[in-house]
Amino acid sequence: MAETGTLENYVGGTWVRSRSVESLEVPDPSNGSVLVRVPRSDAEDVDLAVRAARKAFETWRRQPVVERARRVLALRNLLEAHVDDFARSVMRENGKTLDEARASVERGIEATEFAASAPTTVQGSFLGDVTPGVDTTLIREPVGVVAGITPFNFPVMIPLWMAPLALVCGNTFILKPSERVPLSATMLARLFAEADFPSGTFNLVHGDVAAVNALLTHPGVNAVSFVGSAPTAKHVYTTAAAHGKRVQALAGAKNFIIVLPDADLDHSVPVIISSAYGMAGERCLAGSVVVAVEPGADRLIERLGDAVSHLATGPGTDPGTEMGPVIRAENRDRVLKWIREGEAMGAQVVARGTVPTGGEGYYVPPVLFDRVRPEMSIAQEEIFGPVLCVIRVGSLDEAIEIANRSRFGNASAIFTRDGKAARDFAHRIEAGMVGINIGVPAPAAYFPFAGWKGSFYGDLHATGRDAIEFYTHRKVVISRWF
Ligand code: NAD
Repeated sequence: MAETGTLENYVGGTWVRSRSVESLEVPDPSNGSVLVRVPRSDAEDVDLAVRAARKAFETWRRQPVVERARRVLALRNLLEAHVDDFARSVMRENGKTLDEARASVERGIEATEFAASAPTTVQGSFLGDVTPGVDTTLIREPVGVVAGITPFNFPVMIPLWMAPLALVCGNTFILKPSERVPLSATMLARLFAEADFPSGTFNLVHGDVAAVNALLTHPGVNAVSFVGSAPTAKHVYTTAAAHGKRVQALAGAKNFIIVLPDADLDHSVPVIISSAYGMAGERCLAGSVVVAVEPGADRLIERLGDAVSHLATGPGTDPGTEMGPVIRAENRDRVLKWIREGEAMGAQVVARGTVPTGGEGYYVPPVLFDRVRPEMSIAQEEIFGPVLCVIRVGSLDEAIEIANRSRFGNASAIFTRDGKAARDFAHRIEAGMVGINIGVPAPAAYFPFAGWKGSFYGDLHATGRDAIEFYTHRKVVISRWF
């Protein structure tokens, strides 16, 4: 860190000050105090990082995959040893509770473990005597320099979906983390160095729009993995593709949870509450609309409302806290505006939790809306805050039809004891990640993570075997020996 309290970029194995004179404050969401400043790196900073990554690529790509995997294993062990430090950092800059922060870091470690299995997973294939004496071998090669552009809500987990896998496949990597959570990314860069990744293989460029646009258009960047909001995802996808890059862009969400009258409410209600209000609703898998199939909506709403009004909101540092603040004052104001808009449209607030009094934290009271209609904007747009809307319907068919009308398709869930209904739902719902009595259907790191429709731009999903395909070119060698 420079004396000014502004973070530095990590480029070619050294910490360097951004060329840009502009920087942004990074406040602690739980009290508004400034933690640090983050530079708004520009095209020159990005160019420096791309040059370093290109240079490192020439030697790194030739390292045996087993050597690369050993470094990933070293990284995994360091992450495990520092899991509490990372959890505290995520809690502090993002506002999650400590338990939520630790769980998210553990998911990042899981992705790192999957990356370490590369000597098996990046193997190609072979078919002998395709015609007599002619053999065909498929091999995988790295794509080159990969840029990872990440959102604020998972400061460690999402960079770890990307960097270890991209690197183990033989690519070099540039992380452009969210400017709203740059501290955990800085800790990650130190750990990549400690795990002995050679200079220039892992680079960190802080910043916002200018840094992203420079990465999307730089001829030295071969692939872009992005996670963030829908409008940015579309911009990233179209711009990177127009500049000849391979790109995957995971976008926003509006996740529907269908609750059938036979659902086991004792088990289901806490899971639905955690899905909608956990991480203050700032999760791309957060349940946002409950579609309650009658009869039974009154009973469900009463239980949900009771839980919402008792949610303990406060700073993550307080062990009693169940829900932390949202990331910024603008986000708080935007969510409060959605709540007012919902009321103005005729939806009914049936429960509203409390927020800590005094202080400068960005707290939003958790809110439960009843009598929401599918055409209302609060049922269609991503609110990304602690607001759950209930739509009442008469049948499972109607519920699926409403969920499938959404322009998003990230995740969806059903709560029921009826296996046939759950099976029908799983087959008919238009979403990439589906939960059956699971509120946050996050696939483990060995499965692909992404949504459908407006929740995803690209072909190959993040994590799992899809990610290996994304981070490698396939080459087919056809050979005959005379
Ligand atoms: P965001 O789109 O504001 O920012 C994401 C990244 O893009 C950041 O690094 C930011 O610096 C950059 N960026 C922002 N605006 C830009 C612009 N105009 N031009 C170029 N770059 C820009 O997203 P966020 O608020 O940090 O994250 C929350 C969003 O991410 C939510 O919509 C959430 O649903 C989504 N998300 C999706 C998934 C998924 O798996 N689909 C996972 C996590 C988060």
